[in-house]
This record gives sequence, C-alpha cells and structure tokens, in this order.
Amino acid sequence: MTATPPNLIELGKKAAPGIVHLKPPVDPATLKHRNLLEAPDWRRIPAYADVTEEQFLDHRWQSKKTITRPDKLLETLKGLVSEEFIRDATEGFQRAPMSVRVSPYLMSLIDWNDPYHDPLRIQFIPLASRLLPDHPKLGLDSLHERADAPVPGLTHRYPDKALFLPLDTCPVYCRFCTRSYAVGIDTDEVEKTHFRVDEERWRRAFEYIAARPELEDIVVSGGDAYNLRPEQVTQILETLLKLPNIQRIRVATKGPAVMPQKILTDHEWVDAVTRGVDLGRKLHKEVVLHTHFNNPNEITGITRDAMNKLFERGVTVRNQSVLQRGVNDAPETMKLLVKRLGQVHVHPYYVYVHDLVQGVEDLRTTLETALMLEKHVRGTTAGFNTPTFVVDAPGGGGKRDAHSFEYYDRITGISVYQAPSVKPGQRYIYFDPITLLPPEGQARWADPQEHQRMLDEALSHVSDPSRGRA
Ligand code: SF4
Repeated sequence: MTATPPNLIELGKKAAPGIVHLKPPVDPATLKHRNLLEAPDWRRIPAYADVTEEQFLDHRWQSKKTITRPDKLLETLKGLVSEEFIRDATEGFQRAPMSVRVSPYLMSLIDWNDPYHDPLRIQFIPLASRLLPDHPKLGLDSLHERADAPVPGLTHRYPDKALFLPLDTCPVYCRFCTRSYAVGIDTDEVEKTHFRVDEERWRRAFEYIAARPELEDIVVSGGDAYNLRPEQVTQILETLLKLPNIQRIRVATKGPAVMPQKILTDHEWVDAVTRGVDLGRKLHKEVVLHTHFNNPNEITGITRDAMNKLFERGVTVRNQSVLQRGVNDAPETMKLLVKRLGQVHVHPYYVYVHDLVQGVEDLRTTLETALMLEKHVRGTTAGFNTPTFVVDAPGGGGKRDAHSFEYYDRITGISVYQAPSVKPGQRYIYFDPITLLPPEGQARWADPQEHQRMLDEALSHVSDPSRGRA
C-alpha cells in the first residue's frame, strides 16, 4: 500500500515538526519581484478613458494607436502634466536625434504624477531641461558598425559572428539607441543611414554569410524583428538555418518590453518564430530571442503571460539592458530587474554601460557605477541568471567585461580596454560623463588643451604592442 503524499504547500505554512530553520523567516519585501502590476490603468489617461480591455490587449489596437509625432504625444498628455512639462518636452523633441514612437501600453506605465523622475519617461521622452552637452570625444556610430560592414547592414567584427540589420524601424524609439545613426526617420538633428527591407540587400548579406565559413552566429537586429512580417521572419530564419556554417541565430526585439500584447495576439508572427526555433532544433541549431528590458516597471502581468507563452513553446529569451542614469543605476532597482526577469523566464544576459551616443549625455553613468552594481547583483540569484556588465568598446573593440579594463582613471573618467581576440594590438578608450566626474576631472575637461594630455596619460599606462613598449 502506498502512503498518501503529504500536501507540501499546506505543511510549509505550518512549523513542520523536526525541521530546524537556520535562517530567520524571509522578509516579504525581498519577494517584491513576484508582485507584478497585473495591467496598467490605461483609463486614467483621458485619451484612453473609453478603451476596453479587449482593445488594450490587442496588438493591432496598440500598433494603430502608437504615437509617432511629438505634437500628438503632447496632446495626449494635456491635462495630465503641467504646462511647464509640455514646453520642456516640446523643446526636448526639437533637439533629439531619435524619432518618437510610444505605444499606449508604455504611456499607461508612466507615472504622470511625477514624469520628471519616471524611469520609462526618461528613456523615451526627452526633456530640454535635462539635456547635457555631448562628451567632446563622442562620434555618431561610436561603435564603428559601418566601418566593419562588408555589405550595407551587415557588420562582421568578431571572428565567428555577424550582425544583420534587415530593417531600420522599431515598435518604439529609444533615446539611448546606439544605432540612432540608422534607426527611425530623419530628425532635425540627424540625417540617417537607412537599412530598409530590401530583397537585394538581404541577398547580398546572405551571400556574404554563406561565403565566410568562420561565421557561425548571426544576430538579426535592426531596427526590430517585431516589425518584420511573419513571412519575412520565416524567410530570414530558413535561409540562415540552411547554411551549413550557421549554428546559432539570435533574433533581437525590444517588443516584449514595449508591447507584450503582440506575443499574445499576433499568432502568425509568434508561429513564424516558433517554426524557426523548431526547425533549428531539428537541425541541431539554436534560434533564440534577445530582448531588452531596462527597468522592473516594464514587467507586468501582461509580460508574464506573453513570456509564459514563449516558454511553453520552448523559445529561449535572453535580455540585454542598457545602464542608464535614473532608470536602473541604483542597486535595489537593478537587483529587482534581474530577479523579475528570472521570474518571467527571461535570462538576464548583459548590462551594457551606456555607449557614447549623441544627445543623451544625461542618461550615461560612469564605469564605476557599473562595477558597483555588479558587486551588488552578484549573489542575489543563481549565476546563470546574473548578467555580465560590459562596455562596448568605442571604435569597434566589441563587448568587454566592464572589469577587464587595463587602466581606469576615476578623476578624468578615462578607461582603456584591449580586445586581443577581436582586434589584436589596439587600445580602446571609454569616457565617463564629465558631469559625474570629481571637480578636478571636470576642470581638466573644461580646458581643450588638456584633452590630448589626459588621453596620452591614460594610454601611457597600457602597453602598445605595435611599438613593443609600455
Ligand atoms: S528598439 Fe533597439 S534598435 Fe530600436 S530604437 Fe530601441 S534600442 Fe534602438
């Protein structure tokens, strides 16, 4: 006769006899990552007051109502925010290098009672009063993606990996976008390089990938795969999976963070992704989604349902965050983000130290902040769910572990990296934002004659293999 198994959930609520608890009872506050906002209260925004739940949960309604003009966005906010905020944002948009694109879902997640400090507002709506001058060493396309592109929209930098940009539109436009040189429509500030959907350009990219046997790993980014039609997703995945050299494909989309509804209601798109993942599995190749959550407030009950759907279908999702001032630069926020991602089956893969991007100096933080955050995050959860903090070395050195600098001067904010397996013999320099440096460092940057001297000082600490000296 078999014994009836005990109800462990009920037993767990009582003090089970014979069990000695070495740890004190857990503080419920530490389980905050499980408390998700089930759905944002969209009806508090006057423009959405009559929107039904069915509409709000439908990706077609979300796409149709996505705001793509600054004047429309500000009109939607009338009565919700102060006139001062409207003026500030109007001027902010005039000076921004990125176009605007904000879904009603995102609009409803922002705390309009305190828009100046809201972490989502900070990422998508520029305010003139917060803008800071660009760092003097900044250049558009600071990662030199175009310099490493044998075909327009295909970057081949690492030996075994290439970045394919099939399109240049996204479901949202992020202020911090590294690819602001190409993504979105031209703005008053930036005339862009466009990578539109173009069969001929795609064909040349596929031919290049086929002709390079060392390529095994393709990142399909953009732009954003959310904006590809299902048949385009299928075409890209099937073409790449058929190439014998290709072993891994990563499809990048910020969609789950800004419009998770699409995963729940755009069945054709999700089926196309799932078919690609299944085909890859049959061919013993990996197809995964890479997404982009930056703040725990971006993860709601709708996100959980969307990610559970992908999880049920066996789709692996990894996350790449961008470290931003006021968004995720506090230890408690970063720890909550990491735990919450794990809770909805998204692997926290990378946290990028913010690239040097035009017009968003107010968003950047220091390398020191990244090192401090990493120390706090490590140990919070399992190692495989702990992100690596990286610096994408300006000038094309690729991603370097933030801790792997050869030299870091916290006064001038200059750090130096090397990338021996990417571009041997070269040195790559990252610059902290000047306004966060100690007064001594700020004073040196205020004097243009000091700029080269500070660079030379930093480089003198790192060996230059081309000269065979330190
Ligand atoms: S979704 Fe990605 S590619 Fe598009 S604007 Fe945002 S960061 Fe840039």
